Amino acid sequence: MITDLRSDTVTKPTPAMRRAMAEAEVGDDVYGEDPTVNRLERRAAEILGKEAALFVPTGTMANTIGVKLNTSHGQEVICESRCHVLNYELSMMAWFSGCLARPVFAGDGILRWEQIRREIRPLGPHWAPTGLIEIENTHNMAGGTVYPLETLREIREGAHGLGLKVHMDGARVFNAAEYLNVPVSRIAAEADTVSFCLSKGLGAPVGSLIVGTAGQMERGRLYRKRLGGGMRQAGVLAAAGLIALEEHPARLAADHLHARLLAEALARIPGIQVDPAKVQTNIVIFDVSGTGLAPAEFSRKLKERGVLMNGISATQMRLVTHSDVDRGMAEQAAAVVAEVAAAVAA
Ligand SMILES: *Cc1c(COP(=O)(O)O)cnc(C)c1O
Repeated sequence: MITDLRSDTVTKPTPAMRRAMAEAEVGDDVYGEDPTVNRLERRAAEILGKEAALFVPTGTMANTIGVKLNTSHGQEVICESRCHVLNYELSMMAWFSGCLARPVFAGDGILRWEQIRREIRPLGPHWAPTGLIEIENTHNMAGGTVYPLETLREIREGAHGLGLKVHMDGARVFNAAEYLNVPVSRIAAEADTVSFCLSKGLGAPVGSLIVGTAGQMERGRLYRKRLGGGMRQAGVLAAAGLIALEEHPARLAADHLHARLLAEALARIPGIQVDPAKVQTNIVIFDVSGTGLAPAEFSRKLKERGVLMNGISATQMRLVTHSDVDRGMAEQAAAVVAEVAAAVAA
């Protein structure tokens, strides 16, 4: 039995999803004729409180379309230094949209309007104009941190006041909604476009969505086709996605509890540093340098004992809880980390 805490992308489809996939009504989605995809897009738009939605294969494609819709070539995109669009999407911002990232560091991953405002370029002969503000909610590499609604509101008002759009990489926006205990539409209301993944904590095997205005999504369909994301009988995927969207947000509270339990257990292990009070959602980043092991070695020793976690820097590791890890597995994983740390100390 392997406990896989490398990411929440590793979840396997539930029996209900597999049944829905087998029985899905389908059509050709490039012609807009797949009834299950159409239903998924309609429900996503309703739940997020936007006019329209577009089903895409990956979160990377959703973000690529989001950046493209809100910018023109030669502009800058203000984003947090460790964000996904800058670091993990093969510079699609440059490759597809012709934009340059203007990274701004925030220790907790949460940008404030005051910081953003200072980075907006004045019109002039030397500066690429700012085209877009990109925010990641929850922030993956900052440890699953959540934007307070007030901070989002300030960013939206500030950006719109200057004629700028806001794109939210909401790969885990349902985790943010769970943490804040608000409908996800309250969060989505603070951005012009929002991308989110069905294939992470929500548990679908494949798929992401982008939401925004009807006009944006109409243009987005063309970008999706250009990027190779015009799928045909995609209803087999959307059927699982509908279950993820309708039923699985309610499961995220358990993932958050398990992440907190793991962080508390890890905090008690000599040589490991983590502040459980900072764990808001389903991601825990912890420092293993005090154990004398590099993350890669630590990871290898955990794997020998059936627990998978990745190193993310020279000193830090990351674990991500999800619906395929129950409380018992989380407790067992913490015990295995303690065992590895103790074996090195001895
Ligand atoms: C996972 C993730 C994405 C999208 O990843 P894909 O693997 O392309 O689906 C985007 N943003 C963040 C913050 C993520 O964690």
